[in-house]
Amino acid sequence: MEKQLRIALAGNPNSGKTTLFNKLTGSNQFVGNWPGVTVEKKEGRLIVDKNVILTDLPGIYSLSPYTLEEVVARNYLIEEKPDAILNIVDATNLERNLYLTTQLTELGIPVVIALNMMDLVRKAGDSINVKELSRQLGCRIVEISALKGDGVQDAARAAIEAAKNGKTIPQHSFSGPVEHALAHIEEVTVHNLPEEQQRWYAIKIFERDEKVLKQLNVPEDVRAHIEQDIQAAEKELDDDAESIITNERYVYISQMLKGIYKKKGKGELSISDKIDRIVTNRVLALPIFVVVMFLVYALSMGKSIADGGISIGTFLTDWTNDVIGGAVLTDGSRALLESWGVAPWLVGLISDGILAGVGAVLGFVPQMLVLFLMLCLLEDCGYMARIAFIMDRIFRRFGLSGKSFIPMLVGTGCGIPGVMASRTIENERDRRMTIMTTTFMPCGAKMPIVGLIAGALFGGSTWVATSAYFIGIAAIVISGIMLKKTKMFAGDPAPFVMELPPYHVPAWGNVLRGTWERGWSFIKRAGTVIVVSSIVIWFLTSFGSVNGKFGMVDELYEDKSLVTDEYVTTVADRMHIPEDEVEPMDDSLLARIAQPVSIVFKPLGFGDWKPTAATVTGLVAKEEVVANFGIMYAYDDKDGEEELEENGNQIWNRVAEDFNTISGGHGRLAAYAFMIFNLLCAPCFAAIGAIKREMNSAKWTWFAIGYQCCFAWVIAFIVWQLGRAFAGAVNAVGLVFALAALALLLWQLFKPYKEAQRLTVQ
Ligand code: GDP
Ligand code: MG
Repeated sequence: MEKQLRIALAGNPNSGKTTLFNKLTGSNQFVGNWPGVTVEKKEGRLIVDKNVILTDLPGIYSLSPYTLEEVVARNYLIEEKPDAILNIVDATNLERNLYLTTQLTELGIPVVIALNMMDLVRKAGDSINVKELSRQLGCRIVEISALKGDGVQDAARAAIEAAKNGKTIPQHSFSGPVEHALAHIEEVTVHNLPEEQQRWYAIKIFERDEKVLKQLNVPEDVRAHIEQDIQAAEKELDDDAESIITNERYVYISQMLKGIYKKKGKGELSISDKIDRIVTNRVLALPIFVVVMFLVYALSMGKSIADGGISIGTFLTDWTNDVIGGAVLTDGSRALLESWGVAPWLVGLISDGILAGVGAVLGFVPQMLVLFLMLCLLEDCGYMARIAFIMDRIFRRFGLSGKSFIPMLVGTGCGIPGVMASRTIENERDRRMTIMTTTFMPCGAKMPIVGLIAGALFGGSTWVATSAYFIGIAAIVISGIMLKKTKMFAGDPAPFVMELPPYHVPAWGNVLRGTWERGWSFIKRAGTVIVVSSIVIWFLTSFGSVNGKFGMVDELYEDKSLVTDEYVTTVADRMHIPEDEVEPMDDSLLARIAQPVSIVFKPLGFGDWKPTAATVTGLVAKEEVVANFGIMYAYDDKDGEEELEENGNQIWNRVAEDFNTISGGHGRLAAYAFMIFNLLCAPCFAAIGAIKREMNSAKWTWFAIGYQCCFAWVIAFIVWQLGRAFAGAVNAVGLVFALAALALLLWQLFKPYKEAQRLTVQ
C-alpha cells in the first residue's frame, strides 16, 4: 500500500481556507476538536488522491504564542510535522498574508502556496509576477480561485508532489546583528533538534518565546548566555527582539512586493479609495464618525417616528411597552391573578417581581435590535475597519496601540468577547491596559440604561445615546493616556498593520445573522439571569421589618398599631425624606441595605437608596439596573392618586420624577451622572470573570475593577458638581473638589511621558 501523506492547510482568517478545504475534500470530512481545546479541527481526504489527508489549521496571522489558534497551529506543525504545508494566501492582501508565509517557510516543511482570490486581482486589472514571487520565497505557487474552483486541484497536486520530494529553504535572512545572535543560539541550544527545525526554534528563542523556552527546557546559565546575544542585537538595532523580527519581516515583504505587484493604471483611484479619501481624511474622519454614530442612535434610540423623530427602534419599543411592558403588564397580570384567587404574595412575585423586571428589560429589545442591525451593517460594509484605522492614527499619537480598538468594537455587543479579543495584542502592557478599559464601551446590556435615561428624562434625545458611546471611547482614550504615563504601562506601542478591505455591499445574510445572534443572547439573558435576580430583588423589596415585626412590608403597613406616627418619624429620619413621603418599601430589606451605601453616591447627585440598589445589582447583569427600576417602581397605585396613562411608560415617568426629587430639581443632570457612573464602573460579574481569566492574576483583576470604579466615580462627580454649578446651584465644597479632580485629571493627561525623559538621556 502506498504511504499515507499528511498535508496541512494554513492561512489567515478569511483567506478562503474553508472554501478551498471543501473544494479539495468534497464530502470526505471529519470534524472534531483539537486535543484539549475548543478550537474546531477538520480533516478530510483529498479528492485527487484518497491517500492524502488534509488538515485544516485554525486561521492565523502569525506563529506567535499569543492566541489559542496560533498555539494549536504551531504545535501541530512542529510536533506532528506534516509532509507539506498548503499555504493559502489572499492575493488581494499579499502583505498581510505573506507575513505568515515567511514564518511557515522557516519550519523545515515543504510549502506550496495557493494564491487565492486571483479572480478579484484579475478583475481589478492588477497583476502579480508569480514566477518572481515564487523564486524569492523559495516555494511553488499555484494561482487559484477557491470560490470558482479554478486551479484548486492543481494546487493539491503541487502540494502532494512537494510532500513526496520537496524542500523549502527559507530565502530570507535577517539583518546582521540578528543573524549573528541566531547563529549563537543555534550553536548552544538547538543543535540536538532535527536540522530543518533549528532555524525556527532559534528565531523563537531570540524572540524570547516563553512557550518554546519552556518546551526546550533551556538551562538557566545557557539562557543567561543567550540573553547577552539578544541584548547585543537589541542594543544595536535599538528595539526589542520581538519587534525587530516583526519589523524586518514586514520590511522584507514590502521590498519584495515592490516589483512584483502591479496595480492597474498607477495613480488611478478605485471607488473605495475615493471614499476613503474623505472618510479617513485627517480632518473629516472624526466628525464623519460622530455623524454616522449620531444617525445610528437617532434611528435606534432617538425620538420615535411617532413624535417627529426618525427612530423606528423607539417607536417599536414604545409599542411593546404599551402592549407587554411596564404598568399594563404588571397591573393587568395582577388583576388577572387576583381574580383567580392566587395568594397575594404569589401575585406580587409574578406581577411585581418577574413580569415587572423581565418586562422592563424586554421592552428595550426593539431598540436593541435596530442598534445591532446598524452596527452589523457598518461592520459588514467595511466602515468599522476604517474606524479602527482612524483610531489607530489617534491612539498612536498618544503611544497607544490601535489594536486596542478591535476589542472595543467587539465590546459594543458584549464586554466578555471584547475582553477576550484583547488576546490578539502581543505586548503584555498594552494587553492589560486594553482588558482594563474595554468594558467602558456601552455593551448591549447597558443600552437599556441609556434608553431609559434618554427616554424618560430627555424626551428621547439622540444626543444622550450618542454621548454614551463617545463617553465610552473617550474613557478608553483618556485612561490609555493616563495609564501610559505610569511606570506600569510605559513603553512603545506594538506595531499594528492593517489592510483596509474594499467597501462592499453588505451581505444581508451575515448582517441579519449577526444582529440576531446579539439580540437573541440578550433575550436569553432576560429569560434566565434576569428572571432569577428579579425574584431575589422582588423578595428584597417586598419583605422587611416594620417596627420590629418581619413580613411583607405592604401588609405590615396596613396595621396601624405598627405604623404609629412616631414610627413614621423614625423612618423619615432614617431615609432623609419628609414624613408624608414614607412608603412601605422604605422598610424593605433592600432599602435597609442600600440606604447606608447610598452615601457613596450623594456627591454624584443620586444618593438615594433606589438608584443605589439598581447600580449595585448591575454587577449581576447590567440589564438588572433597569429590571430593578421596573420592580421598585411597579407598585400598585392603591389610592388611585396617580393618573393612569395610556402608555406603559408610566413606570419610567415615576423614575424620572424620583430623580427630580432626589436631586433637588436637577433630575436630568443627576440621571446623566447616574448613567455615566453605570456605564464606566465595574462591569457585570461575568465580564469580571473574563477579566480575571485574561489577566490571569487576582491582583491585576482587583486593580482593574478598582480603577474602573474610581474613574467612573470621579467623572460622574465632576459632571454633577460642575453641571449643578452651571445651573446656578453651587455647592462650594463639592465644586472645589470637582475642580481639583478635574485639574488632577488634566495634569495627568498633559504631563510628559516617562519615555520622553529616557530618550533625552541617550
Ligand atoms: P476562511 O476564513 O479562510 O475559512 O475563508 P472562507 O473560505 O470562509 O472565505 C472567506 C470569504 O471569501 C467568503 O465570503 C468566500 O466566499 C470568499 N472567497 C473565498 N475564496 C474566494 C475566491 O477565490 N474569490 C472570491 N471572489 N472570493 C472568495
Ligand atoms: Mg473558515
